[in-house]
Amino acid sequence: MSRAVMHVNTRRFSSIESLFDLNDTFHVIAGPCSVESMSQMEAIAQSLANMGVGFIRGGAFKPRTSPYDFQGLGIEGLKILSRIKAKYGLITVSEIMDPRDVEPAAESIDIIQIGSRNMYNYPLLKEVGKAGIPVLLKRGMMATLDEFILAAEYIISEGNHKVVLCERGIRTFENKTRNTLDVAGIAILKLETNLPVIADLSHALGRTDIVEPVAHAVKHAGADGIMLEVHNQPSQALSDHFQQLDLGQFQSLMNSFR
Ligand code: PEP
Ligand code: MN
Repeated sequence: MSRAVMHVNTRRFSSIESLFDLNDTFHVIAGPCSVESMSQMEAIAQSLANMGVGFIRGGAFKPRTSPYDFQGLGIEGLKILSRIKAKYGLITVSEIMDPRDVEPAAESIDIIQIGSRNMYNYPLLKEVGKAGIPVLLKRGMMATLDEFILAAEYIISEGNHKVVLCERGIRTFENKTRNTLDVAGIAILKLETNLPVIADLSHALGRTDIVEPVAHAVKHAGADGIMLEVHNQPSQALSDHFQQLDLGQFQSLMNSFR
């Protein structure tokens, strides 16, 4: 099937299995930077479900640069995600930073995210490998593609093959975007691995105004999907307010793929 007629994920085509099937579905994972409350998550989840999006993200343990910034709701945030999953049938993704949180997280969420700052956290990689839960592994902000692939090997070598690679931009001298999205890297990861590859456009770009053309660019480069930060009230968000799409912006992005 040519990429031009790929299904952009409707719930019919969204399942954890389809993410690993590499079956020409272009997956969309959307949701806020941080889980802030049940009512915030319900407002977002309801819209995503109406739009046919199958995956919702939301950080409960937040790796903030400043210790004085909002650190996330922790275990309470994971419980909110579990209630959202039960109510809206969405597949949930959330970051874990501490190996001790892997086991409780596996009881509440569907996919554990390993963030950019933890790509080199080998005890954590081994722990999610042993847990066997699907893992969304982000590229370290200073990691080469080979280092990224070897980080995935840490998980796979423990017997867990359910790894999604997520390009989220690397640090360069360029400051018009938050990071520099490595589109060529996406094509290379597709050549050199047999894992699903997605692009987190929100943390790569750090802005909302160029998301649409770049989303189409990564699809053409072979990405199996995108991750986007979407909030019901971006200006009120407790983290990354400047890069989160509002629900209307997200709807028009989805329409651009139809
Ligand atoms: C996130 O996705 O919430 C996040 C913190 O991203 P990254 O690890 O890519 O910075
Ligand atoms: Mn964020």
